[in-house]
Amino acid sequence: MVSRVIPVEPFDLVIIGGTGDLARRKILPALYQRFVAGQIGKESQIIGAARSEMETESYRSFAAEAIREFTDTDEVKPRKLAAFLKLVSYVTLDAKGEAGWKTLSGMVQENRIRAFYFSVGPSLFGDLAKRLQKYGMAEDDCRIVVEKPFGRDLATAKELNRILARHFDESQIYRIDHYLGKETVQNLMAVRFGNMLFEPLWNSQYVDHIQITVAESVGVGGRGGYYDRAGAMRDMVQNHLMQLFCLIAMEPPAKFEPDSVRDEKLKVIRALEHVKPENIVRGQYDGDGQNPGYRNEVENRDSTTETFVALKAHISNWRWAGTPFYLRTGKRLRDRASEIAVVFKDAPHSIFDEDAGRHHNILTIRLQPNEGIELGVTIKEPGPGGMRLVDVPLDMSFAEVLGPDEADFPDAYERLIMDVIRGNQTLFMRGDEVEAAWAWTDPIIAEWQAAGTEPEPYDPGGSGPEEALFLMHRDGRRWREIKP
Ligand code: NAP
Repeated sequence: MVSRVIPVEPFDLVIIGGTGDLARRKILPALYQRFVAGQIGKESQIIGAARSEMETESYRSFAAEAIREFTDTDEVKPRKLAAFLKLVSYVTLDAKGEAGWKTLSGMVQENRIRAFYFSVGPSLFGDLAKRLQKYGMAEDDCRIVVEKPFGRDLATAKELNRILARHFDESQIYRIDHYLGKETVQNLMAVRFGNMLFEPLWNSQYVDHIQITVAESVGVGGRGGYYDRAGAMRDMVQNHLMQLFCLIAMEPPAKFEPDSVRDEKLKVIRALEHVKPENIVRGQYDGDGQNPGYRNEVENRDSTTETFVALKAHISNWRWAGTPFYLRTGKRLRDRASEIAVVFKDAPHSIFDEDAGRHHNILTIRLQPNEGIELGVTIKEPGPGGMRLVDVPLDMSFAEVLGPDEADFPDAYERLIMDVIRGNQTLFMRGDEVEAAWAWTDPIIAEWQAAGTEPEPYDPGGSGPEEALFLMHRDGRRWREIKP
């Protein structure tokens, strides 16, 4: 099945921080892919902006190199690349000074879609917002895109929201969480709200528990400086896991439109109970023969920053009263594998004898790798023997069902940037959502700090500290295996 591409209107997109890592790895390759797919026309402009002195030609070479390195297709076609690069230009600009702003305001065109991607640290957001306004580029129809981390706690998130609100309306602000751009995440909504099959069962009466795992096999790598001040709770749970949590638990929105969806997500976060210390496990990876442990990697012998979190959360509302949600994320685990598993309760009464065993249905939403959805159903084990039951998957791997060419499958950044151009905020976080997520996270972190406890060490290549297994075992449940 080939996906339908609807071209967007011509636009000007300014990547502020256009020479940075994010622009190189994600933004430029995503724009190139959408151009190749025919979604971006030749009239659009992509303007890189940063302090580095550079001519447009050099920036085009920089962009070409980034696209060749980070585009997931076998081959970047020289003619397509050359055509794309004609859209690209560069301006030397300082967020903190006046250099370059007049030139930029002369480059962006009036009466067309204008978007400014703040691909810089949050400390520059205020300067950027102020200067966009000063140089007449912050009119009502322009959009700004901001990246995570959006604050490091409730106070800093509020401050960032306040700064942006001085110059922009909420409808102009696109806070990116790239997890929301994943095909499966949106399919989660399609499966839940487009089928009669699941929604009647989507509550504490039929669901035993829900597990959300976002596992990485890599360590902190070059991000050690940032990570040691953040940790897994701030870096992953407050944003990515929280967003997945909201989508799986929210009530059906009245319409699939930005504020209806975001209102429902916000209600989930506000209904979250505080997680007691006994329901949360922090871990930190050790080294092995091949890789250094976390503390060596970040060159901080006394670091108590967690690289792993597992917790049990409860939502105080009618739908989910009594159903635990188990969340787990960590670095240097067995595999890179992210999934949501909805584990249904056992049938209320078994008509089969004990040999048949006990079985339950599990709906698994795989986010990476191999995005797809799988429903485990119980059937009779084939053969002439007695009535023995076996669980088999009804598998819907998107790559198989929707076409053999995974390259047709847009990356999260491709979809999200196109949504910015289309002016659709459904998959972006609203300011109050981000603040509510911090309001839930802050007391947990404060309790750790007050207790002065250290994270549990764990071996790399496994599934985290043993204490995380006990968190489930004591409830008579177990984590699903971390596997791609
Ligand atoms: P980076 O590699 O350090 O790049 C920062 C960019 O900002 C560079 O282009 C830099 O270029 C420019 N810059 C710095 N000061 C400036 C100023 N005063 N005026 C104009 N431009 C300035 O950072 P990054 O990794 O791309 O990350 C950018 C943002 O995205 C950060 O907030 C980060 O947390 C977030 N993020 C990054 C990733 C990722 O994969 N990299 C993932 C998620 C979120 P000059 O030095 O030439 O000015």
